[in-house]
Amino acid sequence: MSIDEFLNLLRNRKLSGSQLTNLQKIAEISKRFHREAKIPLPETRINNNSIVLESGHQPNYLPHPGTWKKAFLLNLLQQRLEDSIALFGFADYNLCTASILYSNKIPALTRDGCVKIGFSIPKKDRWKTFDSIPKPSEKDFENEINHLRSTYRNSSNLAKLPFSEIEPNLREIEEIMWQSYELAGNFPDMNAFIFSNICSKLGLNIHFFRYTDIQKERIFMDEWKTIIKNLNSYNKTYNQILEERKFPGIAPLKEDSFPFWYRCNCGGNISLSIKESKATGRCPVCKKTSEISIENLESHFPRMSMTAVARNLILSNGLGTSLYISGSGGGLRYGEIANRISDSLNLHKPITLTWLSRDYYLGLAHIIALNNLTKTFNLTLNDLPDSEKLISGVKNRRDSLLKKIEELENQNADGKEIQRFRGQYKNTETQTKITKRVFERIPSAIDLFFSVGIKEIHESWKNAIVDSEIQRENHFYKIRRDINYPSELIEREKIPLIYDSIASLPE
Ligand SMILES: [Zn+2]
Repeated sequence: MSIDEFLNLLRNRKLSGSQLTNLQKIAEISKRFHREAKIPLPETRINNNSIVLESGHQPNYLPHPGTWKKAFLLNLLQQRLEDSIALFGFADYNLCTASILYSNKIPALTRDGCVKIGFSIPKKDRWKTFDSIPKPSEKDFENEINHLRSTYRNSSNLAKLPFSEIEPNLREIEEIMWQSYELAGNFPDMNAFIFSNICSKLGLNIHFFRYTDIQKERIFMDEWKTIIKNLNSYNKTYNQILEERKFPGIAPLKEDSFPFWYRCNCGGNISLSIKESKATGRCPVCKKTSEISIENLESHFPRMSMTAVARNLILSNGLGTSLYISGSGGGLRYGEIANRISDSLNLHKPITLTWLSRDYYLGLAHIIALNNLTKTFNLTLNDLPDSEKLISGVKNRRDSLLKKIEELENQNADGKEIQRFRGQYKNTETQTKITKRVFERIPSAIDLFFSVGIKEIHESWKNAIVDSEIQRENHFYKIRRDINYPSELIEREKIPLIYDSIASLPE
C-alpha cells in the first residue's frame, strides 16, 4: 500500500482520559528535555483526538544511520497526518554492557575495514545504568574531536581530495558536539543531545524525552500495576513465544522473574525476581542485596526501569500509541513478544512499522579503497560497477603475477626480485580483503554526515521514501528502500552496483 493508505489505518482512534493525561505528562518532560538540549520544541495541540506516533532508541554514541532514519520516518509521517504527535524516547537507563553506547566505528583501510571512535568506560562500570555514568572529561572530549578531524584530514589527503570540500560538514557537527557536551549532565544526555540536535538540523520536528524522566514523574503507574498483577501470565506468554519462534539472543524468563530493574546506590543495575509482594535482587557491582515492596512501588519508581518488552506494553497502552516505528533487528523481535502479551492481557497495541534500508555512498575511506583497487588491478572507475569486469581484472592481475614468479623461479633469478613479486601478489590479496571490509561495514552515521552533509541527507532520505510501498509481513509493516547518495566521482545510480560487485569478489 502507499503511505497515504497506510496513514488511513492510523486515523479515528480516541484517547482515553488516562491516556490523554499521560500524553500531557510526556509533553511536559519533553519540554524539559528540549529546554536542556536547547532545541526548539514543536508546536502541538494535544486533545483526545491526538494520534500518537512513537519511536525511541537507547542514546548510543553517534549511532548508525538506521537510528536517525527512525526519527526521520516518524517526522515524515507526523507531517502528513493531521492531529498527530511524534514522540521519540531515549532509553537512558539501560545497562552499560553494550559498547555501542560510548563508542562506534568509521570506515578505514585497516584489516577490519574500520577504526574505533568514541570513548571507553571502566570495566567496573559496565554493570551500571547508563545514566549513572558521567560524561567524558573535557580533555578526552577534545581529543575525540581532534581525532575525528585528523582522521578525516588524513583521509582527504590519501583520497587526493581537498579537505575544504568536507570541512564545513565537519565544522557543523563539531559545533553541535561541543554544545551538547557542555549542556549535558551525564553521558547519555551528551549522546541524546548530539542526536536530537542533528535531528533538528535535519529539519525534524519531533518531541524527544528521556525514560528516566518518565520514572521521576511516575508516569504509567497503572500499566506497571497491571503487568505486576498478571506477572504469571506475562512470563508464561513470553516463554511460549520463545519456544515457538526461537529468537536468537533472547533468553527465556524464570518463573519468578520481574520485568523491571532497580538501580542500586552504587549505580549498579539490579535484575529482580519476585516472591509474594517483594522484589529482590543482588547488585552486580557492589553485591549488596536490595528488596523492594510492591505496595510501595511508587516510592521506588524514580530508581526503576522497564525491560524492552515491558516498555512496549506500558508506553503503547499508556499513551494509546497508534504507530510505533521500530528498528529492524532486535526491536521487531521484542515487539512480537510484546504484541502477544498485550493480546493475552487485553492491552492496546500499536501498528508497528520498520524501514529496512542500506546506505550507498562514497565516503573518503571508500574512495581511497577504490583508487587503490583501480591502480593495483589496472581498472578504471567505470569498470567497477560491472562485477564481471572487476572479478576478471583482479584475476588477470593475480594470474600474471603468479606467472611472473614462476618464470623467475625457473630462471633461478635473483631472490630479491622474486620476493618483490611475491610481495605484490600478497598485496593484491590484502587489498581485496580490506576493500571488501570497508564496503560491507555499517558505520556510524558520522561518516555519512561528514561525506555527504546534513542538507543532502534530508533530500536523499525524502526522495527514497516519499513514494514507497508499505508491505505487511506477518505482524508488521515494512518499507524496503535503499538510499543512493550523490558523489562527485561517479553517478549515484552506479554506487550500489559498485558495492555489489565488491561484495562478489572472491577472497
Ligand atoms: Zn550496588
